[in-house]
Amino acid sequence: LRAQEKRGAQAPASTTDGQAMDVVANVRNLQETQEGVAHGAQGVGLLRSEFLFDDRASAPDENEQAAAYMAIAQALGPQRSLVVRTLDVGGDKPLSYWPIPPEANPFLGLRGIRVSLDQPEMLRTQLRAILRAAPLVQMHIMFPMVALVEELRQAKAILAEEQKALGQPRVQVGMMVEVPSAAVMAEQFAREVDFFSIGTNDLTQYTLAMDRGHPKLAKLADGFHPSVLKMIALTCAGARQHGKWVGVCGGMASERMAVPVLIGLGVRELSVSVPAIAAIKACVRSLSLTACQALAQEVLQMSTSAEVRARLASFAEGLS
Ligand code: PEP
Ligand code: MG
Repeated sequence: LRAQEKRGAQAPASTTDGQAMDVVANVRNLQETQEGVAHGAQGVGLLRSEFLFDDRASAPDENEQAAAYMAIAQALGPQRSLVVRTLDVGGDKPLSYWPIPPEANPFLGLRGIRVSLDQPEMLRTQLRAILRAAPLVQMHIMFPMVALVEELRQAKAILAEEQKALGQPRVQVGMMVEVPSAAVMAEQFAREVDFFSIGTNDLTQYTLAMDRGHPKLAKLADGFHPSVLKMIALTCAGARQHGKWVGVCGGMASERMAVPVLIGLGVRELSVSVPAIAAIKACVRSLSLTACQALAQEVLQMSTSAEVRARLASFAEGLS
């Protein structure tokens, strides 16, 4: 029985009507990657590369970064995918050795890809290190906090130069969708990336203009708000026009109640916290794509998060 359970945990998850869903892990280091594999993750959908840069006196060099990415890639192996997100600092995530001048609105200032484009040498070093690990895994590179097509183009141009210098290692290139402009312009962005990964934590914050960590706003800053669901729908519609795939790596993907609506909106990869992998796979296996699609269309018409949550709760009950 144990062996059977283990095989079940490792098997990919599909809906009852045969739609395959990738259930992958959000990780911060090698240990979490190993735990993710043991729990049945089909890959890593978000490697938060900040772990290499935090709590130290200076930035890691190319060799140190390459060794870390290679170890993670090796733990996954050539059949699994690895999405490395380039450094996502600024805003709520400062770096002691990276002097970002004080800003009046850090969440609207130098964050994510904006910091990398401001410090291109550091981005180049990181990209070279990631590319060196590419032959060991199905490597994906993802840029955070992209708001403008120009930012994506600049980052891709730098990547292309480094790829050329290293003999064109194969990678898929994607971006986080966590700013409303990226969701609204998903069709244009989809012409220029291989995939999207929706960061519902920041997308909720920026869509509702509510600080994601504000104690008084915590209840209102809700990813189930219809405005956020519409952003997800726009992202999937834009991607579909160009045959690109969409994942969700924000906290919503780890919430069972969100899974039917995400599938119904067109999401095909759920990147979840390691402890949630088994429950999210089980949830996927209990759902039909057709029912999820009808549910998604229904909740998109609603006016409040409370209405959406009530409907999703009744849908979940109807299944059990
Ligand atoms: C997000 O914003 O949803 C996300 C996954 O990125 P982070 O939480 O690291 O900002
Ligand atoms: Mg984010």
